[in-house]
Amino acid sequence: MSVSLYDMTLPELELWLVSQGEAKYRAKQVFHWLYKRRAADVDDMTDLPQVLRDRLRATATMMTLREVARQVSTEDGTVKFLFALYDGSTIETVIMRHDYGISVCVSSQVGCKMGCKFCASTLGGLIRHLSAGEIMQQLLACQRLLDQRGERVSSVVLMGSGEPLENYEAVIRFIDTVTDPDGLQIGQRHITVSTVGLVPAIYRLADERRGITLAVSLHAADDETRSKMMPVNKAYDIASLLKACHYYYDRTGRRLSFEYALIRGHNDSLQDARKLADLLESLPCHVNLIPVNYVPERNLSRTPREQIKAFVTELQRLGVNATVRREMGADIAAACGQLRAEHAREQV
Ligand code: SAH
Repeated sequence: MSVSLYDMTLPELELWLVSQGEAKYRAKQVFHWLYKRRAADVDDMTDLPQVLRDRLRATATMMTLREVARQVSTEDGTVKFLFALYDGSTIETVIMRHDYGISVCVSSQVGCKMGCKFCASTLGGLIRHLSAGEIMQQLLACQRLLDQRGERVSSVVLMGSGEPLENYEAVIRFIDTVTDPDGLQIGQRHITVSTVGLVPAIYRLADERRGITLAVSLHAADDETRSKMMPVNKAYDIASLLKACHYYYDRTGRRLSFEYALIRGHNDSLQDARKLADLLESLPCHVNLIPVNYVPERNLSRTPREQIKAFVTELQRLGVNATVRREMGADIAAACGQLRAEHAREQV
């Protein structure tokens, strides 16, 4: 079986090339072609000896993603891709423009098995993990599009479909290549990993003492409500999750981020806001309030605008650093899993 060049970190690429009888320094050259010059094909790597290029072509693969659909928001420039993988599975990737730069949201799994009641990505269950290279190819496809305008991805969020901490090794390998000064050179603090709250993996990540931002999907401030929305809460309740979050902060010094989707009548009362403020009291963090995105299969409605305002004001009054997430690409199917779900509906 051939290896994917995008699956290997620089040290892994060195080992692999040496095992093929090549000189170690060739790895850096290849790596630069992949990530700095964003070569589409081995033949673009013009300063490599022909023998090495032949070897790479025979034993390794490069881009395996195929673009199936692309939607561009005329309102805010958000771009959403639907990519097909070699096995026909599809995943979504999004480019978002902010005043502080351009971020890319990548998927880490095909589908998801976490079962959150408001989420479209989990509807068909987990199909499979993505490899590090498949996560990387999403980012590279976005960067290549931006290259046409001389623009650069400034931050990466692992907030597409899937639970990144369940696909731990691939995610770490991806991050190592993204942050490598010889790779895409995006700083660790510009990488955000979002998790449903897999407590043991949070400890593991904390112990690596990287500068990555951890975002935790909290969505409720008491166990009864959270367990109804997120089955994972039955395995790791809010108390154990917050303990892990404190540990993450202590080990890394990185402020945490919490996501809280406001769902009408479920988790959006002022009392919920007060409970949330109590929970987060001594933890340096930021709360991202997200008006829940409509998913046809899920019968949930958004908290009315006035109530969202009251909720965020109450949090702020209680000293919580909270903001309402700006909606991106509202005119396209940019919310989680929607393009993939639409595509799947068209196929039946
Ligand atoms: N599995 C990870 C990352 C993927 S989901 C996690 O759970 O964090 C990215 C974010 O989108 C999570 O906070 C998730 O809870 C949220 N999300 C999923 N469906 C949503 C919806 N319909 N409306 C608003 N947010 C949603």
